Amino acid sequence: MLYAQAQSQVGIAQSTQGSVSRAIPFSRPFSTGREQAAIAHAIATGELAGDGAITKRCHQLLERELGTHKALLTTSCTHALEMAAVLLNLKPGDEVIVPAFTFVSTANAFALHGAKTVFADVRKDTLNMDERLVEGLITERTRAIVPVHYAGVACEMDSLRAIAEKHGVAIVEDNAHGLFAKYKGQYLGTMGALGTQSFHETKNFTCGEGGALLINDASLAERAEIIREKGTDRSRFYRGQVDKYTWRDVGSSYLPSGMLAAFLFEQLSAREQIQGARKRIFDRYNTELSGWANAHGVTRPTIPAHVDQAYHMFYMLLPSMADRAALIAHLKAAEITAPFHYVPLNTSVMGQRLGGRAGMCPVTEDISDRLIRLPFFTGMTAEQQTRVIERVSSFKTQA
Ligand SMILES: *Cc1c(COP(=O)(O)O)cnc(C)c1O
Repeated sequence: MLYAQAQSQVGIAQSTQGSVSRAIPFSRPFSTGREQAAIAHAIATGELAGDGAITKRCHQLLERELGTHKALLTTSCTHALEMAAVLLNLKPGDEVIVPAFTFVSTANAFALHGAKTVFADVRKDTLNMDERLVEGLITERTRAIVPVHYAGVACEMDSLRAIAEKHGVAIVEDNAHGLFAKYKGQYLGTMGALGTQSFHETKNFTCGEGGALLINDASLAERAEIIREKGTDRSRFYRGQVDKYTWRDVGSSYLPSGMLAAFLFEQLSAREQIQGARKRIFDRYNTELSGWANAHGVTRPTIPAHVDQAYHMFYMLLPSMADRAALIAHLKAAEITAPFHYVPLNTSVMGQRLGGRAGMCPVTEDISDRLIRLPFFTGMTAEQQTRVIERVSSFKTQA
């Protein structure tokens, strides 16, 4: 329900765009204005399937910019996570540590391949997987740790890497929010054996539905290509490395169309413009709401000094769930959509089937009741943001 709600908010926003409505949506996909021509070019050159010239340009851009060994576009971040599960040869009974405060796919991709997801609580400040709790969750069956860089603000990767190394488990970074963000100068998504990106329309860079797998452990690269190409070595065949392609391993079809890659390339090429606009929106919320937040016991995002964030969202923690509900209603009355976010995975129906239970992740269970996200999208106008800031500032919490 929660996720359906967020999706429909995007849809409503688009259907009213250009009309007299003053409604401010939570999110709205950004266009550089060049995507349509790029798709037309892909059609004209017959690049409809995946892995043609434009897909390769996306791969090269990501590889050069991020310094990852290999980047492969996928049909979604969910599918990139599923590829990670296949690559790690997960077997039923194997355990994967995920944060309780995340999108379903972070856990589901591994559960789909038989793994038991073990839920780690999050830190009170960054709302990221609490690295101080992770070692206590490791067992002989643990195969991977999956940190999520919430809001594009890095997890404590030094600690997580030390734990992973000590116990011989892989790190898969779910970096759906954090493309081009950094931890101590290193790009997010490039510090685990594998990293995953999302290009869903709600993310900073989009092609509607899409994703990427970043392969940082070079020993996984060849098999990743095979898994992505229906279990065949077709990628090597196209490079002329083998004279026919055959069935080599299990796999599926995780390649996006060249038309989507063409769309995405324009977005990735506009990264400075997009991230610059998002930084201005974040900084303005953060500065202009600070007085109101401090006076009302409201917490703004914590960005550690050693982190360069991705400006994916602006969230706040209200003193109570009742205050949050009242603020959502106060904004809604002014035609401003501000949703909450993830419901804890450990108390979900599926999470409980995997051993989760209420009380297991107290920070997650607390903050998920109090968190609100303000409208935040690349094309947001200064006037729209002024209206959101003024409306929020006229709200009084009960505290
Ligand atoms: C959006 C999101 C995903 C899923 O991305 P898709 O590309 O829609 O599959 C996974 N994890 C997190 C943290 C996300 O925010």
